[in-house]
Amino acid sequence: MGERHDAVEVITAKRDRGELSDSQIDWVVDAYTRGEVAEEQMASLAMAVLLNGMSRREVARWTQAMIASGERMDFTSLSRPTADKHSTGGVGDKITLPLAPVVAACGVAVPQLSGRGLGHTGGTLDKLESIPGWQASLSNDAMMRQLEDVGAVICAAGAGLAPADKKLYALRDVTGTVEAIPLIASSIMSKKIAEGTGALVLDVKVGSGAFMKDLDRARELAETMVALGADASLPTVALITDMSTPLGLTAGNALEVAESVEVLAGGGPPDVVELTVALASEMLAAAGVEGDPAATLQDGSAMDVWTRMISAQGGDPSAELPVARESTVVSAEADGVLTRLDALAVGIAAWRLGAGRARKEDSVQAGAGVEIHAKPGDRVSSGAPLLTLLSDEPDRFERALAALEGAVEISDPGTSYDPPPLILDRVTA
Ligand code: URA
Repeated sequence: MGERHDAVEVITAKRDRGELSDSQIDWVVDAYTRGEVAEEQMASLAMAVLLNGMSRREVARWTQAMIASGERMDFTSLSRPTADKHSTGGVGDKITLPLAPVVAACGVAVPQLSGRGLGHTGGTLDKLESIPGWQASLSNDAMMRQLEDVGAVICAAGAGLAPADKKLYALRDVTGTVEAIPLIASSIMSKKIAEGTGALVLDVKVGSGAFMKDLDRARELAETMVALGADASLPTVALITDMSTPLGLTAGNALEVAESVEVLAGGGPPDVVELTVALASEMLAAAGVEGDPAATLQDGSAMDVWTRMISAQGGDPSAELPVARESTVVSAEADGVLTRLDALAVGIAAWRLGAGRARKEDSVQAGAGVEIHAKPGDRVSSGAPLLTLLSDEPDRFERALAALEGAVEISDPGTSYDPPPLILDRVTA
């Protein structure tokens, strides 16, 4: 173990806008993980980092210290290269579901360690758990076997990976310190580097439904993470993508699985297809493999990997998905052009309908969520359905409808409106 420090010394150094030394960072992350630095001390340090930032060296060292707090996985014994994708989270963001099979069908293995949703953004594991029989937990050995045999795994991250981050993330969640760019970047990259993927593509969301509300901050987060990847010799590319409106036409667990299956069958909403193909192309390029992701969606080979991937984890890919018992429709109040459908409002509505959880220990409803019938740029007629809200519990509709107040804007029928591009920028080292 390195030099001993004292928590108050480290906190006050950052409070006074100092740079923490490598040895201070190693010590504080390790001592916090062991319980020697108290929660209130780390909360204070996290707030000082949020207010005063970190240099590139500090973020890189902090990331290394979080990796060193747990185990590292290694996929170099597999017969094919690996690539992974991480999204900073958004509303209707089901891209991992079609993406992992597409990339695997092109010859690159995808080890996706995913999480559950908290707040208004959905979690990939919650979505897949709406498939009857599907299991999120796999041993490291089972994960390796599935990667070799099927080429794609989406499963829960084991407790051994970056335990410092697990503790720190839970603390940040309740102390108003989630939004610090150095802490977000080190949290995401420590897990991805410890996971051992050979290449990484980041989908940094920007807009009302994302952590990053403006493009400058999204770019800063993307640049910080791409630099951390480069420091760790992990080829990393980031796309900055729009999250001002939900992705696709569904937000909710089983609804999003059904939409992903449509994409794997060669159909599905154009924005979901566009982003799946763009991220898949980046993953293949980062892994050094040539392939045509759009063709694998059309020729059934991505669907074939999906079926095997779901079956390998106990799921029945042909089973009927759960459907919510109750529904209510939100209709257009005028003729015109839909010029806004706010992502955050739709995400909160889906959450309140039962698709998400307020506390980690809550369960989610598989069938709950929002179906979207019109997207920004579409013409709508007065009285036509815009959204269908779905839940097993009708008393949830009132609060979901309240979340949607002001979320929809319909402009004059003569308005010409071009929605913003989905892919706003690309960041490389
Ligand atoms: N996702 C993470 O894994 N960590 C963060 O800090 C934010 C989003």
